[in-house]
Amino acid sequence: MEEKLRALKDELAVYMDLYYASAVLGWDQETNMPPGGAQARADQGATLSELAHRRITDDKVGRLLDDLKAYEESLDYDSDDASLIRITRREYEKRVKVPAELVAEIARAGALGIEAWKEARTKSEFSLFESALQKLIDLKMQYAECFAPYENIYDPLLDEFEPGVDYAQISAVFAGLKPELVKLVAAIGENLDAVDDGPVRGEFTDESQMAFGRIIAKDLGFDFERGRLDLSAHPFTTGFSHDDVRITTRTLQDFLPSCLMSIIHETGHALYEQGSNPAYYRTILAGGASMAIHESQSRFWENIIGRSRPFWEHYHPLLIEHFPQLEGVDRETFYRAINKSYPSFIRVEADEVTYGLHIILRFELENDLFNGRVKVGELPDVWNARFEEYLGIVPPDDAMGVLQDVHWSQALFGYFPDYLLGSIFSVQLWNKLKEELPGAVDQVRAGKFDEILGWHRQKVHRHGTKFTLPELSERAVGGPLDWQPYMNYLNAKFGELYGL
Ligand code: ZN
Repeated sequence: MEEKLRALKDELAVYMDLYYASAVLGWDQETNMPPGGAQARADQGATLSELAHRRITDDKVGRLLDDLKAYEESLDYDSDDASLIRITRREYEKRVKVPAELVAEIARAGALGIEAWKEARTKSEFSLFESALQKLIDLKMQYAECFAPYENIYDPLLDEFEPGVDYAQISAVFAGLKPELVKLVAAIGENLDAVDDGPVRGEFTDESQMAFGRIIAKDLGFDFERGRLDLSAHPFTTGFSHDDVRITTRTLQDFLPSCLMSIIHETGHALYEQGSNPAYYRTILAGGASMAIHESQSRFWENIIGRSRPFWEHYHPLLIEHFPQLEGVDRETFYRAINKSYPSFIRVEADEVTYGLHIILRFELENDLFNGRVKVGELPDVWNARFEEYLGIVPPDDAMGVLQDVHWSQALFGYFPDYLLGSIFSVQLWNKLKEELPGAVDQVRAGKFDEILGWHRQKVHRHGTKFTLPELSERAVGGPLDWQPYMNYLNAKFGELYGL
């Protein structure tokens, strides 16, 4: 058996090398590549994706998985070997249904799509992106068809980012949460002036924002010897191994929280990647398990820690040092300012309360798109109408509306719900963490994060890709995903801020 397992690991090592090499190309495209490089990059990305796909769907992998079946069944489900075989089987069985040519075509269309999107967003003209988007949707329809029969054509797309979690399950969670969010947004709306974010609007230099963000990332545990922080149009995290994890941010000179909170958010992703078990290097168990679990990490550090009073009790003096213009803004005023809640257009700048509605809108819209209930050409109008229905405001243009997110341009359909599932899970993790580490809040107040990070390493990071969200949730917090604690957290925090 040893020999078969070794052979499987050898196959996976090449697959992972190809996968990470294409991630390097993607990172470069977002941070450094001149626009002229788009076509060549699209071809290179397509070739690498196809090679990786062919590698993991090779008959040899199928035969090794068959040979290892009995061995897998003899092992503990949670063990490294059983998990390695199980996750490889899951990926093999999924990918073997999809033709390699289609995988290459999607990768190529995604790399070209992002360039079309950049131009369309800059000019705020949806029509410049429409044909690229139509093509991406057509290709992803073809992809989903490979998994027929399905309950919902959206399910295979969701499964790419959240294995084993489907539309019915997610919509059940959101159906409970949505009316509660709408209620809280309305209650805050009655009392909007209770919180003023004037202090965080002004002029803040890029240099100070980046310098301050760097210190915080490092304090939280980001290892700059094994990672980098750069600028890009849309903040993101990518990694080429646990020893090389890249994060990016963007700066807005007139709104301080944007860059800072993006850095903390991406640091959360990076801590997860850097915390992956080194023993999983070049195996399919390396890295993060799913996008919702990834978002539970980023949203945890960004919101539960980074937008908390204890955090700013520690960082307020350093904030003033970096931004002397905030000299007269006391700690409490600053805390309130970075937590102001109000309906706004851009998801990534949205506060914790309205954020969920941004996500639910996208989730419902993607489901309608793939089920043929909304046509691509109708997207700007449908987007604006739903935005008004959910948040009471109408985007002034497409850049502030339907064109704001990079995801669709890269063929990432089915990704959005994970932001909210992750936010929900982050609160369950935090509640469990405080139970098991009663001094956690005091540690935040003292600017000490190693034990909090250690808890996440133990409960989440070290498992790599072993477990699905439902499996990890059972193991980490002792129960299934539950939106109620998340809503309790929002009601308590914002009820206090807005005197509700
Ligand atoms: Zn994220």
